[in-house]
This record gives sequence, structure tokens and C-alpha cells, in this order.
Amino acid sequence: MIARTHDLAAISALVIVSLSMPIQEITLSTAIVAIVANLIGGVAPDIDQPTAPFWRNLPVGGYFGRIIAKMLGGHRFLTHSLLGAAILSYLVYLLLGFLRPIMGSVNIDIVWWAFVIGLMSHLVLDTFNKEGVPWLLPIPIKFGFPPLKAFRISTDSWVESWLVFPAIILIDILVVFANYQHILFLIHNKIM
Ligand SMILES: [Zn+2]
Repeated sequence: MIARTHDLAAISALVIVSLSMPIQEITLSTAIVAIVANLIGGVAPDIDQPTAPFWRNLPVGGYFGRIIAKMLGGHRFLTHSLLGAAILSYLVYLLLGFLRPIMGSVNIDIVWWAFVIGLMSHLVLDTFNKEGVPWLLPIPIKFGFPPLKAFRISTDSWVESWLVFPAIILIDILVVFANYQHILFLIHNKIM
């Protein structure tokens, strides 16, 4: 899937998980940092791809991207598995712990969870890809859904742009619709 689809899936997953949790107070700064972390998590597994937006936006990113991609075992390998997700999550946990003193009123735990939710949404979404995802590395089997490869989606295809992307938006609309009162309550009372 392309970055745009992953961004949308990450933020959708964050909204759905947040709405299903018991209501807690959250500062505006936490909400903003959490959304950024969520979007980064949503595209983070693709650091194993030299052409990923993350690398393209850096001055010599293509060069580093190729080296990192090789180290990570190529596209859709380590960073697209539960093991890789655990390692990435742990590294971000350490980084956030390091940044805690300068983060003020930002709730680091919520930010970390937002990152992990974005990360997991990436693996779930890529499971619908033709190539599948090696969820259980080091067991070198790629899993895909539906099990028949012919019914899965090619990255950047019209199916992704015109079926998957609109389908996620439709799910979002339904979720917002179903939780409308809850969302209004959150906006009025719980974001400080
Ligand atoms: Zn990916």
C-alpha cells in the first residue's frame, strides 16, 4: 500500500481504539503529539524500502535507504513482522523515555500507544497486499488475506485508490456517525 492509504488506516485505527476505551482526560498537546506519532507508526515499517517517502524526503535518503533496507532484509521482511514491530515499539519507548523531561504535559504513554496502533495498522493493511506479510518471523512464511493471492491487492493499483481508500473512509464515517454523541462529549469535556 502507498503512504496515503497507511496514513488513513493509522488515524482510523487510532480513532476506533480511542472511542472503544474508557473516557480519560487528555491534553491538547498530548492529542497532537499522539496523532503525529500515530502517523509515523503507520508508515514506519516501510523504512525497509529505499523509495519510501521517509527516505525520499531526506537529502541523501536514497543512499541511506538502500543500506538500511539491506540491513533489514529487504522490503516486507523484519519490520513487517511481530518481532520487528516489538523491536520498533521498544526503540520508540526508549526514545520517548529519553524525551520525557522536555515533553511537558504530554502523556508519553498515550503517545507510545498511538505509535503502536499506527504500526499494527500497517501490518494489517499490508496483509491485504499481493505479497503478504511475514507476521511470524523468524518463521519465513508470508501471510495474506484473502488466502488466495489472486484476490489480494497490488500496491498503488486502482483497487487500492478506488476501493480500499474509499472503504476506509466509509468505515470512518460509520464510526463517527455511530459515536457522534460520544465524540461531542469528548470534544467539550475531555480535551483541555
Ligand atoms: Zn509496508
